[in-house]
Amino acid sequence: MNNLCKMPFLHKYVNVIDNSEKPCCIFQGKEPLLKVRESFLNNEKPEGCSECWRREDNNILSKRQYFNKRFKNHDLNSGIKTFDLRLGTTCNLKCVMCGPHLSSKWHEDIDIFKKYVNSKIENPNQKSIDLNFDDCLEIYFAGGEPFYMNEVYACLKKMSMNQFNLENTKIRINTNAIINSNNKILKILRKFNKIEITVSVEGYDKVNEYIRYPSNWNEFLDGVKLLYDMSDRPKTIDEIFNCDKSFAFNITVSSLNLLKVFDLFDWCDRNNYVYVANFVEEPRILNINSLQPKIIDKFYKKHEEFKYRFNHLKDIAQYVNDNYKYDENLNKQMESYLLALDIKRNTDRNILYE
Ligand code: SF4
Repeated sequence: MNNLCKMPFLHKYVNVIDNSEKPCCIFQGKEPLLKVRESFLNNEKPEGCSECWRREDNNILSKRQYFNKRFKNHDLNSGIKTFDLRLGTTCNLKCVMCGPHLSSKWHEDIDIFKKYVNSKIENPNQKSIDLNFDDCLEIYFAGGEPFYMNEVYACLKKMSMNQFNLENTKIRINTNAIINSNNKILKILRKFNKIEITVSVEGYDKVNEYIRYPSNWNEFLDGVKLLYDMSDRPKTIDEIFNCDKSFAFNITVSSLNLLKVFDLFDWCDRNNYVYVANFVEEPRILNINSLQPKIIDKFYKKHEEFKYRFNHLKDIAQYVNDNYKYDENLNKQMESYLLALDIKRNTDRNILYE
């Protein structure tokens, strides 16, 4: 069964916000889980798995290949070993590239989101679920902001009473790091042997404050220190894979920070932080196609200056090269959206393009 993926058998993705369960977070089809499993047992390639087939066709490691390798000794009846849980939208921030569908705080500016990004936004569900984590080897929480979510606390509390979970279950959390030492989820997290912290950051200092509104850079640094000190302080990707308590930054590149990634990479390098970069596809008005050609020219000039200093720049330049196609409509929509946010939030988008 060359096409087999073990994820639909050993992994569970649950999103209570839109009430969905999928074989994994990148699955894009409508087929129910049982049908996907049946397809794999018949050695077929389910349509919803196109992202994995695309990567494999381009000789890039797919999620399927990575997961199959990791669980090569587990048969298909082993039960659920890893969870990906989206348990609610409680959040302390209203980041520019996010929205009320993922952040409760964003409801303060929902009128702007509906006018410029998506008028059909619906109120998310906040259902509770009851899952069995007894044999679980890994659990991933994304938000909202997991450090403020009671649903995340309830899961961790339950697992903290189980010695197997305390010793063997890796707790993976994606956070904006605006937390302090009294945070009850932080306290309970300290009890677990295996953790993986990924901190989202989109810019250095004021740029991050603009994008991850209304965060404060110094509070962010305090939160980063708390989380970093809890980790084994890995300094390379290899160390990340081989330590029990990992820490890394995730940088999402968009039309908001394409010109500002240089300062951020510099800050990460000066502090020996590991970071990965990916790209915004949604909302479309914030992907790189909404940037005028003069901004892209500026990016290439800076790239020339720094290309030997930051490894990740190569990926970003490649992405821009392969994907950039100026869309004047998108540019106008982005401008109107950022202007409306600036007026409401008393911010200034020009700091992104100086
Ligand atoms: S093949 Fe890829 S998209 Fe399909 S279930 Fe496996 S990991 Fe997910």
